[in-house]
Amino acid sequence: MTDLAPLQDSFGRRISYLRLSVTDRCDLRCQYCMAEKMQFLPKAEVLSYEEMQFLCEAFMRRGVSKIRISGGEPLVRKDIMKLMQGLGQHIGSGGFEELTLTSNATQMPTHAAALADCGVKRVNISLDTLNRDAFLRLTRRDALHQTLAGIDAAQAAGLQVKINTVALKNYNEAEIPTLIDWAHRRGMDISIIETMPMGFIDEDRFDQYVPLLPLREKLIERFSLTASSHRTAGPATYFDRPASQHNDAGRRVGFITPLTHNFCANCNRVRVTCTGEIYTCLGQDGKMDLRAAIKSFDETLLQQQLDAALIAKPKGHDFDISETQQNPATARHMSVTGG
Ligand code: SAM
Ligand code: SF4
Repeated sequence: MTDLAPLQDSFGRRISYLRLSVTDRCDLRCQYCMAEKMQFLPKAEVLSYEEMQFLCEAFMRRGVSKIRISGGEPLVRKDIMKLMQGLGQHIGSGGFEELTLTSNATQMPTHAAALADCGVKRVNISLDTLNRDAFLRLTRRDALHQTLAGIDAAQAAGLQVKINTVALKNYNEAEIPTLIDWAHRRGMDISIIETMPMGFIDEDRFDQYVPLLPLREKLIERFSLTASSHRTAGPATYFDRPASQHNDAGRRVGFITPLTHNFCANCNRVRVTCTGEIYTCLGQDGKMDLRAAIKSFDETLLQQQLDAALIAKPKGHDFDISETQQNPATARHMSVTGG
């Protein structure tokens, strides 16, 4: 198939970024992401790597230049490097530029070198605290040492690491300046994320929610941050921190603020779940099931369905967290679409 038009939605937004969740399973149980007891999908419902490869190649032919592999925890899926290798071979051809991964890094010591061999240059690693007890409380697993070893391994393999930290009242709000300093000293950028009301969890989200704009003002003052011209395909707004004694290179802090500042106007992405459902908006329930087209390797049907899904892509999300609004904006957890 040649000469397919680039993917575009009905608001004229070009879609150049695909997030693919390769599994809904995870070895952690972060409080804001999952309940302790989760009902995971039967493995038979999850797309094979061959099917995921076919799907990704169909997106590449429509102008998608960046694919982020996520989950659940992508590195807990068996033989994940088969998919990474298959996708990595396309980097630099036909407009496909970047293959990346979001991970909690617990399995990174086993996989970091192989990821680099597949052409992955940058990874996002989620870390919300450097305190072992807080990590255990937050993720319900005593695995801080594994995540830290994973970050070491990623850096040793030459991967550029960006840390993602969800700001949570009563968990890590006070620790955020320490995390920023720690990341910068290790040569890593860091993004601070507002918790989003997705899926039912065991706690009340209002009790966890930290509005990021006031926190951002404090951090701007504390670290002499200035607005950055740095842009990525993601939704973060970046600030530069000047170089100093503790931070030779000067590094960046990003803020992802879906609740206090809606970022939908520039949305360039879609998400596909590990069962082959496309969600065109993180904060809405609208989806289309691509599974039949994927499983029959019918690219004509798949491309038609992608166009139809994009026509239905909403203008923006309806996230709200307040004392009166206790229900999640969507019943699905973040782990279904991978962030
Ligand atoms: N397991 C991997 C990880 O933790 O990086 C990848 C999947 S995880 C769902 C992707 C990102 O979503 C992580 O950075 C996580 O912190 C974030 N996340 C999960 N639930 C969230 C929520 N309700 N609000 C904001 N961010 C959330
Ligand atoms: Fe697992 Fe990532 Fe969700 Fe934490 S945020 S439970 S590591 S999928």
